[in-house]
Amino acid sequence: MLLLNSCQSKNEYTNNFFTMDTPMSITAYGKNAKEGVTKSISYINRLDGLFSKTLNQSEISLANNRDGSAYVFSETVSALIAKSLEYSKATDGAFDITLGTLTNLWDTKSETPKIPSEKDISDALKLTGYKNLIQDKTHVLFKNALKLDMGGVVKGYACDGVYEILSDYGIKSAIVNLGGNIYVIGEKPDKTPWNVGIKDPRNDDQNAIIGYISVKDTSIVTSGDYQRYFIKDGIRYHHIIDPKTGSPSESDLISATIISPSSTMADAFSTAVFIMGREKGEKFLKENNIDYILITKSKEVIVSENLKSSFTFEGKEKGYIYDK
Ligand code: ADP
Ligand code: MG
Repeated sequence: MLLLNSCQSKNEYTNNFFTMDTPMSITAYGKNAKEGVTKSISYINRLDGLFSKTLNQSEISLANNRDGSAYVFSETVSALIAKSLEYSKATDGAFDITLGTLTNLWDTKSETPKIPSEKDISDALKLTGYKNLIQDKTHVLFKNALKLDMGGVVKGYACDGVYEILSDYGIKSAIVNLGGNIYVIGEKPDKTPWNVGIKDPRNDDQNAIIGYISVKDTSIVTSGDYQRYFIKDGIRYHHIIDPKTGSPSESDLISATIISPSSTMADAFSTAVFIMGREKGEKFLKENNIDYILITKSKEVIVSENLKSSFTFEGKEKGYIYDK
């Protein structure tokens, strides 16, 4: 996703930073902009220290290397585990934070990614499953040797937290971009909506979009097969794993964007809907009254009814099809 706004204002403060393995940026307007943004960045770093799968002293790493079958988490981590389990139930298991063994195995981030053997995949699959997590408040019982990977929801959670922090600082206009997880707060300082570009999933140019939405006070989260992937023998192996197969999902979608004031939910559901595919995904989103923009392998762009009036299509020359 891309932000198409450029406005200069004397109370503007922007910070570009890198954490959670992701380039991020926050721009805020108002007299407390700098303080609010600075506080937000230390908050995100603190979350990374809790949820990272790679920092070996994070709570998630400590839990993954647990000795025995139980682990006691902090309130913050257990609250997001509880939410994640709700999202797993709601999505019929498409969203699942217990895929750590599989995501380690696939390691799409590696410089030299390899396709795991069928045996390794089926062995890793046995060590997954959200139903194997039994939670009683902060106390979590692991019914098998599963490892947690909360990478599908933590940036959304961070976005919601930043929204709270900036609001506490009295900031009424801001744009938070945590690597594809966007939160637009209020309107632009000139009182017009924010324009948020929807990335062209088949163009490596970071600035290529298929259109944009004009929105205020909401979060926009995309899951796609183009963020982290490698191609081998013409097959694209990306970072979103279908919990049923243990391999990168092969649905008919190449991008799923969810628009909702809850960025945590949008993050979990964008990952889930990407796996569900168009038919199941659209049905699920309609039932739950959630706005979306989906892009299929055949380059069809599907926009939820409610969002059509705020969507501007710009993908025709790039071969995308949008039937308003
Ligand atoms: P990104 O992290 O690129 O913004 P997503 O929000 O879609 O994208 O999350 C993908 C990440 O979530 C993966 O890198 C992995 O850590 C984790 N993950 C992969 N498959 C699933 C899944 N089925 N459910 C929950 N998390 C997943
Ligand atoms: Mg996600």
